[in-house]
Amino acid sequence: MKITDIRATTVTVPLEAPLRHSNGAHWGRFVRTVVEVETDGGITGLGEMGGGGESAALAFAGLKTYLVGHDPFDLNRMRYAICNPTASLYNNRTQLHAALEFACLDIVGKKLGVPVYQLFGGRVRDEIKFASYLFYRYPDPKSGNGEVRTIEQLVEHAKALKAKHGFTTHKLKAGVFHPDYELECYLALAAAFPDDTLRYDPNCALSVEQALRFGHAISGLRNDYFEDATWGFSGMRRLWEKLSTPLATNTIVIDFEQLATNVRDPAVDVILLDTTFWGGIRACIRAAQICEAFGLSVAVHSSGELGIQLATMLHLGAVLPNLVFAADAHYHHLLDDVIAGGKMGYADGCIPVPNGPGLGIELDREKLGTYAELYRTLGGYPYDRDPGRPQWYPLLPNTDFADPRDARAPDFRTP
Ligand SMILES: [Mg+2]
Repeated sequence: MKITDIRATTVTVPLEAPLRHSNGAHWGRFVRTVVEVETDGGITGLGEMGGGGESAALAFAGLKTYLVGHDPFDLNRMRYAICNPTASLYNNRTQLHAALEFACLDIVGKKLGVPVYQLFGGRVRDEIKFASYLFYRYPDPKSGNGEVRTIEQLVEHAKALKAKHGFTTHKLKAGVFHPDYELECYLALAAAFPDDTLRYDPNCALSVEQALRFGHAISGLRNDYFEDATWGFSGMRRLWEKLSTPLATNTIVIDFEQLATNVRDPAVDVILLDTTFWGGIRACIRAAQICEAFGLSVAVHSSGELGIQLATMLHLGAVLPNLVFAADAHYHHLLDDVIAGGKMGYADGCIPVPNGPGLGIELDREKLGTYAELYRTLGGYPYDRDPGRPQWYPLLPNTDFADPRDARAPDFRTP
């Protein structure tokens, strides 16, 4: 079987409300690029990539000459064809490779008539548990609804998500407001959900000293972990020496060199595996196996996903024995999806692992067209700009947090 064509379609899918984070915001929508890899066997595989609110379609088009004629079963060769580590010093294609690997695994599974998880020795669980991924949110510019800024709004939002989806783990995406205010928010969540577990992720915005104060203040709570509290390996290493709460990362251990460093010189306890950041499902499985050997736990990271990428996260989670934490997904903030049958549903906080051949999902062509048109209409958005503070750029550690008393609705026109 040979690859005959690669098609990449950039889509924009609306969110319930703009999501705020320590670097800026998702401006009320996700921009994702859907990749279709076609073969001479008549099988088409699906992949997906995101990235900072921008299209990746041209980057995939540029790889056609590398991959047309390539056998989608030859994944080891494909890695070196487009991701040779020294060539990558000039053009890092790790995330492009991930989307192409998803598509090739989808093709291989469809060809063999088995789900992707069967290609990795079979699943150890039938469904993946997810955390409620709580963001501070601007109100939706059209409806005025969906704002999460005050402590009351945050707790109400979490309660509504729990009632709707059954979550028993809550992740606060933070680093937006001063850590003293976010500590009040976190304590309010802990009080509202005494039987649930919690995790706090300020996306590295805190200084080591702020993170220490925060970490000590939450040490008696039911924390899964304290995620990327501060920037950099050495800063996290200082926290790891001083805090009793487990530390997690999706920033300082995202490749095998860094994983080896963390084994020799521990700075974090839980590695959050992202099928895009690591370059594919197979790299995540390999990383998880190394973690298992060294007694490190893993969880599944979300970099913002539509149903194709979500399927990769489900197949990954299905085969990892050491997945002891609920996975993260932005998915419940989306209003729609591009896969046939609409958005996957949660039951008791879990999503079933797809059982169809390959990734087990299909494209809804009409929706792909609709959301490709929406991308052409709206264009990209700057992930690292806060529309509510147009002149602001974050420092690391951040010394100029947003004001939770500021209720102004921002202007969402692209600067
Ligand atoms: Mg994170």
